[in-house]
Amino acid sequence: MSQENYYQWGHKRRFNTFSDYIRMRFGSRVQKLTIDAGFTCPNRDGSKGRGGCTYCNNNAFNPSYCEPKRSISDQIELGIEFHQKRYSKANSFLAYFQAYSNTYGELSILKKKYSEALKNDNVVGIVIGTRPDCVDNEILDYLAELNEKTYLTLEFGIESCYDETLLKINRGHDFKTTQLAFEESRKRGIRTGGHMIIGLPGESKEMILREASILSELKVDQLKFHQLQYVKGTQMAKDFLKNPNEYTEFELMEYLGLMVEFIEKLKPEIVIERIAGETVREYNMRESWGLRYDRVLSEFEKLLEQKDSWQGKYFKKLKNG
Ligand code: SF4
Repeated sequence: MSQENYYQWGHKRRFNTFSDYIRMRFGSRVQKLTIDAGFTCPNRDGSKGRGGCTYCNNNAFNPSYCEPKRSISDQIELGIEFHQKRYSKANSFLAYFQAYSNTYGELSILKKKYSEALKNDNVVGIVIGTRPDCVDNEILDYLAELNEKTYLTLEFGIESCYDETLLKINRGHDFKTTQLAFEESRKRGIRTGGHMIIGLPGESKEMILREASILSELKVDQLKFHQLQYVKGTQMAKDFLKNPNEYTEFELMEYLGLMVEFIEKLKPEIVIERIAGETVREYNMRESWGLRYDRVLSEFEKLLEQKDSWQGKYFKKLKNG
């Protein structure tokens, strides 16, 4: 592929940003509004496993208004109020079913919960976060139907492309299951997102960079990246304290340097929603970088500029892809 520059794909910035995608799709800013709809997860209730993924503590990501004891409608009202205080121009929202596995339940219950969220006039679409092993044909067929009526993204936790890592972090499914979930969603025209954790135990820099090529072959429309964080109350935080040498802790610039190399190999068409993660400060067991996400992003873009780098600069299709 030509390496002229990033304009060749119509990108205004050096990577394919979510904010540009949203503006193109909706013509204005649209804010994601997190909901905790009271789902659980098969990796916690015993049907797949107990205790969950070793890094998981959902409370660390939920904003204060987001509590399952409140109705979905109330969470949306409070969420809108919260966002309008921060960004006065926020008028359109995507209801984001984020906590736990939001397709894990009877179809009739899923339908009820999604339609409650879509009732609010300020909600212009829905984002559903789930595990790749929590969708079947019945659910996907229904989501394809819903997708005809509203904007919809189905977001899967990928976390790693390596089965040995997935085993280590107690995910309870393999990468083949992930690939299948993306393929089945794409077949039905459902827009998909994926969540990745960078720096999981046992993954070398080479392994991480190879994931950029593997993800480029996946039927995924947008990706979010989080650096591995040690969240209080998780099994991973305990393991880290016992064997710190087996775990990675990125300095900010080290992480951003790695992500520059990563996105150089990533397919240019994939939208990047986040380059790094934030947790609520009191949940972080280690010193965090002490920067808000917008500052992290601006450091990342400065680095891309300095290195004259961009998403897809070295993108190559895998030989047997
Ligand atoms: S990360 Fe998701 S799948 Fe894993 S235990 Fe937590 S809620 Fe369940």
